[in-house]
Amino acid sequence: MEAKEITFSYDEKTAQLTNVSCEIEQGKVTTIIGPNGSGKSTLLGVLSKSYLPQGGQILLDGKTLNQYKPKELAKKLAVVHQQNDAPVDMTVEKLTSFGRLAHRRFLTPQHDEDDAAIDWALACTNLTEKREKTITQLSGGERQRVWIAMALAQKTPILFLDEPTTYLDMYFQFEILELVKSLNERHGLTIVMVLHDVNQAIRYSDRLIVMKAGEIILEGTPEEMLTAEMFKAVYGVDVLIKEDEEMGLFVVPKGI
Ligand code: ADP
Ligand code: MG
Repeated sequence: MEAKEITFSYDEKTAQLTNVSCEIEQGKVTTIIGPNGSGKSTLLGVLSKSYLPQGGQILLDGKTLNQYKPKELAKKLAVVHQQNDAPVDMTVEKLTSFGRLAHRRFLTPQHDEDDAAIDWALACTNLTEKREKTITQLSGGERQRVWIAMALAQKTPILFLDEPTTYLDMYFQFEILELVKSLNERHGLTIVMVLHDVNQAIRYSDRLIVMKAGEIILEGTPEEMLTAEMFKAVYGVDVLIKEDEEMGLFVVPKGI
């Protein structure tokens, strides 16, 4: 997937994305980082065709996003949004089954292929035992996994996740990131995510995209781009960059 010189504004006045170009490599984990309000969710929205850019082009498998019909695109990419709501009485299985809508014709019953995709999505997210539970009966970590299950049931080669670890405690953050890692490594999904925590981004990504004020200011592997100067320029924070034999590179904020 490739974005070329994207310009996007919500209100036609202030540009939220200016001249944004980036490449999403197949089979890799790409993470978008940057300060609050820098345009990370907006970029995900444009890449997944939730928003239509005023300028530029996005190519996916040799076609522009404009050329895809909604159902056709829904077979290529699935999105887990930052905020999700569901009716409280809906079961995990029912919610997961919504991921199949793109694959079914209107008002046709669910087929074996749909059942298999739902079972697979529930197994990947370790929710098989919880399939009959309702959303209110789940912990925060389990709820986040339901949204991921719904996206997985779509059976797409590309998965977008917007801050999948926000609001979760340390244990559940790891659980989600390990799940994302296994989806990439074992099931070959191309992952594009937004993460708040730069150390998680460094550890779980093949490539990073760094945004500031609606522009991509750096793109590359974590090792290539991690400098104290970058953190000062992007976040306005002084950091120490350390390397640990087991953990690799990590960043410690020193002050502002
Ligand atoms: P991030 O995800 O990096 O925190 P966003 O992409 O959500 O940033 O927001 C980028 C900018 O666009 C911000 O200035 C934000 O206020 C603005 N913005 C986000 N969503 C909307 C919207 N639906 N309508 C108008 N402005 C928006
Ligand atoms: Mg956001």
